[in-house]
Amino acid sequence: MLTKNQADIWSDFLAFIEERCSAAEFQNWIAPIQVAESATDELVLKVPNIFVQEYLLQNYKKDLAGFVPVKTNGDLALKFIIAEEVKKQQVQEEAPAPAQDNLKLNPHYTFENFIEGASNQFVKSAALGVASHPGKSYNPLFIHGGVGLGKTHLLHAIGHYVRQHHKKLKIHCITTEGFINDIVDNLKNKSMDRMKRFYRSLDILLVDDIQFLQSRLNFEDEFCNTFESLINQNKQIVITSDKPPSQLKLSERLVARMEWGLVAHVGAPDIETRVAILQHKAELRGIRLPHKVAFFIAEHIFNNVRQLEGAINRLSAFSRHMGKEVTEEVVENTLGELLQHNPQKKVSVDNILHCVGTLFEVRVSDLKGTSRLKTVAFPRQVAMYLAKELMTDSLMKLASAFGGKTHSTLLHAWKKVSQQLQSDETLRKQIEMARRNLEE
Ligand code: ADP
Ligand code: MG
Repeated sequence: MLTKNQADIWSDFLAFIEERCSAAEFQNWIAPIQVAESATDELVLKVPNIFVQEYLLQNYKKDLAGFVPVKTNGDLALKFIIAEEVKKQQVQEEAPAPAQDNLKLNPHYTFENFIEGASNQFVKSAALGVASHPGKSYNPLFIHGGVGLGKTHLLHAIGHYVRQHHKKLKIHCITTEGFINDIVDNLKNKSMDRMKRFYRSLDILLVDDIQFLQSRLNFEDEFCNTFESLINQNKQIVITSDKPPSQLKLSERLVARMEWGLVAHVGAPDIETRVAILQHKAELRGIRLPHKVAFFIAEHIFNNVRQLEGAINRLSAFSRHMGKEVTEEVVENTLGELLQHNPQKKVSVDNILHCVGTLFEVRVSDLKGTSRLKTVAFPRQVAMYLAKELMTDSLMKLASAFGGKTHSTLLHAWKKVSQQLQSDETLRKQIEMARRNLEE
């Protein structure tokens, strides 16, 4: 039985911490922690997964020491059990299934925590569409993009959403490595049939980092069969990858299957989105980040959200230990080599217009004009796309540099070109060429 004492320790701590962290932080990280009933001489906390445990210890160990008794060896009389493991053990005891239906989702990777901007709006709404109507909107949904841009985040967000809103659906989230290991284990245990049955009975399969299936021929076949079996039953599949299907070294059959549904790209966020991400992450960690400082960081870290997050982690450690305000100076001193001191080469709208003019053989004055002729209007949209991708100015400023267009015209152009890029190989090459030209 739980002694009153231990339940009290935790509720006192909750009351203390609730005052000191944001509502979002409390809800995401602290509220899911429970006191385990079997506790006797130490406080045993049940956490949904290891991330929550790490989060609590990393951020509040000192504060906890004010509540939890200390053992003779100086450690806190505190123990964690992970709910997923408890569940896994139970499942294993009941029926030794080959693959566990325990979703290992990062609790932080939810749609609510995903900051939208022009570079990821499309893919986010596709992910939300799939999560709301699994098997009924895009199938498969194939998400691709560079490292640290939020692919795994979106994949897990689909997982969380489905879990909450479609409780009866059987969902499994796995990395490609995990899938391969599963096959290896089941081959060893001669339980392939059971594994096949498990995968083919799913309603939703989320697969992270499919690029690791390249040159794993035997595994590719098994994956392809699983894939077909699910798709044929209208079961939802979501795949992430660092490249679009056509650039993966996988069999034609599998590539074609992956292109059946929707192929959506996650791009690098523009400066406004980077600032918003920084501010969101800072809030979650309970640090105050003045807008000017966020902007400064965003200007110097531009191609990877994970690095933005790394910056916030360092700053948060710094401001906790030193009790100092985060200023630009602090940022320069603590982030040092994280900051890219050679920020994106300054590209101007004029450079872009010249470059696109040459590429599509259109006059710059026409690009700046209002002609709706397709031979002019499309190159103009490409120029707008490039401006938005390569420049850090606000949409409003960019739009006016195009001869007084509105920011929604620019955004529309950007969306149109981004979408076309996903299927139009020639356009992709043209844009790559323009980018190289402009950035060199
Ligand atoms: P990928 O799988 O594309 O390499 P992740 O999904 O692991 O990238 O994202 C890296 C980190 O950046 C994660 O901590 C994730 O939460 C964060 N992140 C990426 N994109 C966003 C976004 N749009 N809003 C908030 N956080 C993001
Ligand atoms: Mg990932």
